[in-house]
Amino acid sequence: MTDWQRLQRMSRDEQRALQGQLLRRFVREYLYPFSPHYRDVFDRAGVRPEQIRSVDDLRRLPLSGKRDLLPTPEEPQRFKRFILQPDPAAIRAAWPLQRKLPLLWEKWTHGIASVRARVRREFAPCFMTFTTGRSAEPVPFFYSPHDIQNLHVTGARLVDVMGLSSEYRVANVFPYAPHLAFWQVFFAGQATGMMALSTGGGKVMGSTGDLRAITRLRADALIGVPGYVYHLLRRAAAERLDLSSIRCVVLGAERVAPGLKAKIVELLAVTGAHDVRVFGTYGFTEARMAFAECPTPDNAYTGYHLYPDLAIFEVVDPKTGEVLPDGEDGELVFTPLQARASTVFRYRTGDRVRGGLRYDPCPHCGRTVPRISSDLTRESSVADLQLLKVKGTLVNLEDCAMLLGSMPEIEEWQIELRKKDGDPLEVDEMIVHLALKDGSSPEKATRDLRELFKSRLEVQPNHVEFLGLEAMLRKIGMETEMKEKRFVDARPKT
Ligand SMILES: [Zn+2]
Repeated sequence: MTDWQRLQRMSRDEQRALQGQLLRRFVREYLYPFSPHYRDVFDRAGVRPEQIRSVDDLRRLPLSGKRDLLPTPEEPQRFKRFILQPDPAAIRAAWPLQRKLPLLWEKWTHGIASVRARVRREFAPCFMTFTTGRSAEPVPFFYSPHDIQNLHVTGARLVDVMGLSSEYRVANVFPYAPHLAFWQVFFAGQATGMMALSTGGGKVMGSTGDLRAITRLRADALIGVPGYVYHLLRRAAAERLDLSSIRCVVLGAERVAPGLKAKIVELLAVTGAHDVRVFGTYGFTEARMAFAECPTPDNAYTGYHLYPDLAIFEVVDPKTGEVLPDGEDGELVFTPLQARASTVFRYRTGDRVRGGLRYDPCPHCGRTVPRISSDLTRESSVADLQLLKVKGTLVNLEDCAMLLGSMPEIEEWQIELRKKDGDPLEVDEMIVHLALKDGSSPEKATRDLRELFKSRLEVQPNHVEFLGLEAMLRKIGMETEMKEKRFVDARPKT
């Protein structure tokens, strides 16, 4: 592992040379010899592992994606083909002498059982998380002890980028689940010695229990999903609780709506917390790591700071798959450099980034590692519901979510799709359910919302309906569901 202090000051050329070196080794000594799926990909593309020498050589290989991992009738467990599966013969054939010598030495001095234990520590799956599609089958991603060690490393780097102190007490309100976000926070705590209390989120302790835990702990940091963190702070402000110990809020697992950071700061001020830093983070199951924004006094969206020794990101044209020039909008493609167990390669995330990757030193913290623009549309957060045909038009529901989340008078919302009069042959209808801030006018909110949808999206809601906040929270399952129900497709399945 490259020393993080050194890595974050390296020039772009030095980083690229390092990535080339790591990529070469990863492809030759791990991916090609041990990954059933990617060995086929290389062979079908007619590319030899020796031909991958630098980052530019990645383009010789086709992109892979979520579809490659989904089960088919012939192959119900396709995800297994993505797990690195070394056997003694493959190791002997793939590894150069200087890598085999320590194993031989260990065999002579400690016996074959010791060598097997070492190989198991590197490769054998011991932990898993799942992708979170709504209708699609969840796909498991495995970690070996080596990958768990990487989670410690990325956890410590996240804490460093956000400038958190190891003295901080952390309230982790991510739901208890086999999902990356929860575990990345857990391992960050383990790696840095921060005192972390994981409450399991609203479904486990309820917001009352969570708020009691946060105030008793006198937490310095609050970490969770944007919608739930907002809900907690709104309650704390309404009940005039004392959250003055909070110095930072870390949001993960979903995109942070523009304007949400400001709303959070406002609520925290009511509870006595001032000068609070609010961070967005970016991670996804297949990466098995997460990235963060760095602190600024005004909580700017500073982009997600990457770890060039652990992964290469490319930005491609989502239609053609061609790599795009620096700074252009496109889809993020991920290639890990130190992965074991479940391993993807040139993997389409489905996440669209506006402004691409930045390579100039960060104007806020000076780190030279590349940054992904914070303006990210995440396919992973709304999964298969993201692009829906509504009234014959393809609508990006996450864009709807961002618009609704940024309107100051809206407290909570839900979008429902149904057929007119419940008749399956009838036209689609879009209903927006809203809970407004006290004192806001429903007429004005309806007008504003229609204006905004008209100027930014191609569809208009058929109806806007209003509910009280408590009823709305029950409707979206704020404290009863693992994830809030923001989109409900009540149209009969065709
Ligand atoms: Zn920075």
